[in-house]
Amino acid sequence: MRGMSQRTAPTAAEPVVPPPAPGAEQYPALDFANSLLTLPSGPLDLLGAPEAASEWLVEHGLAPEAGRVLGPCTVRLRVFRGAVRELLDARVAGRPAPPGALAAVNEALTAAPAVALLHWDAERGLHRRLPHPADRIADRAMARLAADAADLLTGPDAERLARCGGAPCSRFYVRTHAARHWCSTRCGDRVRAARAYAKRRAEQRA
Ligand SMILES: [Zn+2]
Repeated sequence: MRGMSQRTAPTAAEPVVPPPAPGAEQYPALDFANSLLTLPSGPLDLLGAPEAASEWLVEHGLAPEAGRVLGPCTVRLRVFRGAVRELLDARVAGRPAPPGALAAVNEALTAAPAVALLHWDAERGLHRRLPHPADRIADRAMARLAADAADLLTGPDAERLARCGGAPCSRFYVRTHAARHWCSTRCGDRVRAARAYAKRRAEQRA
């Protein structure tokens, strides 16, 4: 196993978090599902703490710059992510959509307005504005992620939805070509390296 552990050891040049999976830039809900990573070094949750979750939401344009979510909202986000992952999983496997996950998405869709509402004040007159009091940041983010997940799951890209075959990675991606089996070149390289290693071992034994 010596050669194997050398190959899988992280190098200084390699960032811990892989680049977004194909489709994840187009569909924030896909990147949201992929915010729970299983790296060769172990699990990594990009929404694991309120600070990290807030940063993730701001980076994805789902919270205002100074927007911060607190612990309980972070937990709700993670639970909601579980529902989105279940739906993606079921779609990829061609299984019926789990009722609990469907209910979670529909609840998120209706719990907060995902669109800018019409307002009037003396200074600006009529204008549209998203409501964003601090306690509603998570609700609004989930509403937008739910809408995006629903679009992805019912749109033309649903057919091309896939789950990375590079164990232990569990990221979802949109298949850009039929032969794509991995979410990233990193996962592909790891699988190929492991196969080559196994082959060499088998040859040595023979
Ligand atoms: Zn992968």
